[in-house]
Amino acid sequence: MERAWAQNSGLGWRGKHSLLIQKNKGSFFFLAELILDIKLEYDHPFKTDHCGTCTKCIDACPTEAILPNNSINGSKCISYFTIELKGEISNSLKGKFEDWMFGCDICQDVCPWNRFSTPHSEERFNPHPDLLEMTKNDWEEITETVFKKVFKKSAVKRAKFSGLTRNISFIK
Ligand code: SF4
Ligand code: SF4
Repeated sequence: MERAWAQNSGLGWRGKHSLLIQKNKGSFFFLAELILDIKLEYDHPFKTDHCGTCTKCIDACPTEAILPNNSINGSKCISYFTIELKGEISNSLKGKFEDWMFGCDICQDVCPWNRFSTPHSEERFNPHPDLLEMTKNDWEEITETVFKKVFKKSAVKRAKFSGLTRNISFIK
């Protein structure tokens, strides 16, 4: 729960979509922590909620996974289904994934604060060049060899080849 520590460290507030937001950066960044045995000067908890009356993330979430208390019902979130779930995805969700086959960023994409987010400059986050050339057909016929090549050192490996192909079939 780095988000809670980040808020307590004065870095920002937790938006209605549960993620940490900074006014000048939005929410597209990683959080990390250092565990030290020395005392540092520290900042105070961030107290203000700058979501105000906005409900864009709640309104846009296709599976109604965002709860009223700034948290997510993980078992309804597309990221859970496409990354963590083992086994089949319930047919009751058919048509709700809006072409997301690994993870989901809809609630961040619609957040007005992300107009302040900036592209990264970390080469290791760039996609494998072959990924950018893949057609819909290539995705539907992806082989394990291609999967291993284009997702080498990628978080997509968490879903495994079987999970990704299940997701692709689900959104066909
Ligand atoms: S990641 Fe997608 S499915 Fe999950 S809460 Fe956000 S919009 Fe909803
Ligand atoms: S979309 Fe609106 S309600 Fe949701 S986190 Fe962003 S500012 Fe807050």
